[in-house]
Amino acid sequence: MRSLHLRPEPIRPDPTTGLLAALREAAAHIAAEAATLDVDGAFPGAGVAALRDIGLLTAPLPRALGGAGLGTTPEGAAPLATALRLVGRASLPLGRLYEGHVNALRLVLRHGSPAQAEAAARDARRGCFFGVWNTDGFNEPPLAVADGVLRGRKILCSGAGRVDRALVTARDSVAAPPQMLLVDLAPGERADLSPWTAQGMRASATGAVDFTGLPAVLIGQQGDYLRQPDFSGGAWRFAAVQCGGVEAVLGLLRAHLSHTGRGGDPHQAARLGQAAMAAETARLWVHSAAQRAEAALPEADTVAYVNLARLAVERTALDVLELAQRSIGLQAFMRPNPIERVARDLATYLRQPAPDRALVGAAAHVLEAAAEPGDLWG
Ligand SMILES: Cc1cc2nc3c(=O)[nH]c(=O)nc-3n(C[C@H](O)[C@H](O)[C@H](O)COP(=O)(O)OP(=O)(O)OC[C@H]3O[C@@H](n4cnc5c(N)ncnc54)[C@H](O)[C@@H]3O)c2cc1C
Repeated sequence: MRSLHLRPEPIRPDPTTGLLAALREAAAHIAAEAATLDVDGAFPGAGVAALRDIGLLTAPLPRALGGAGLGTTPEGAAPLATALRLVGRASLPLGRLYEGHVNALRLVLRHGSPAQAEAAARDARRGCFFGVWNTDGFNEPPLAVADGVLRGRKILCSGAGRVDRALVTARDSVAAPPQMLLVDLAPGERADLSPWTAQGMRASATGAVDFTGLPAVLIGQQGDYLRQPDFSGGAWRFAAVQCGGVEAVLGLLRAHLSHTGRGGDPHQAARLGQAAMAAETARLWVHSAAQRAEAALPEADTVAYVNLARLAVERTALDVLELAQRSIGLQAFMRPNPIERVARDLATYLRQPAPDRALVGAAAHVLEAAAEPGDLWG
């Protein structure tokens, strides 16, 4: 019998493997910078530069646009979840900023014209940093656009004065569907960081930005920003960063117990075990939610599942904070113990929009579902 000489399929190396390895290597430097930046108005410039050098600013682009496909396919979901966890574990402010960058690129790629997608990809390849700013001030008119010129401001903009390209939403009235726009910004432009007096996340350069008179290009149609399942489903990405924060707290708790020789005490060991369980619960939820959100599953399922995931991660974070603070005691509240800062950052970053609505919406989905409880998520 003639033997078949089949040429083996060329193995295409997965670019995300190298990216994640490089990120793990850079994590100590990123964490070291975070420890020095716990001051109002700070921004993790070296951390952003590290992400840029590693290739993580372009990684969320599809390979055809010079990226690594991080998060752009179901297979890319797990590496993106890992990247967000690793960044969040090293620095929650940097994690928040990177999550915004990823979100902005995704929105332009999904809803922008091919030329707009290509331009955003080109900007990312040149090292531009993006953000998504959706929050309007309470009791003031929302940001509006007329003839491509903006009027008004946004609040709670992380990376204010630092982001090069801001994806903002404008509305004719508070109840009107939002229109996405992309704005080019110069360093320091229009940013007011003084209102950001939050307990934590001081280094996220979060503040108000006044856009009045600035030109902007429309991205997609009115209402696209709120299109499901992406709008609620995308919450898995902030949950991934929060999960990194949970892992950071667990790591600091473990280091404390090792260092003090208290880990063998049964109460301390029990709390460490509970914290490890909680952190793993968060990780499993995040990766499962990422997988589901990036696969084309029924919209209502995805939204409900990710809503549960984000709240499960919030719960684990609150539990791990309590366990760590009980185990470490007063030292956990003393500067410059890193857990003092990380706990403030995590507690602050856990505050995300409408948690009650997320839970009630998911509960309604479960109530109406025909599937048996164990088969709900197939
Ligand atoms: C570090 C950090 C950085 C941020 N960066 C950005 C950014 O770059 N861009 C951006 O757009 N935003 C940003 N935000 C804002 C963020 O997206 C949320 O808007 C904000 O964190 C909402 O938090 P909240 O607790 O005030 O939420 P809320 O939604 O106001 O929730 C507070 C409580 O009120 C309840 N609630 C909500 N609505 C109602 C209602 N109608 N009636 C009764 N109860 C209600 C909620 O369930 C919850 O219990 C940032 C936030 C943080 C913490």
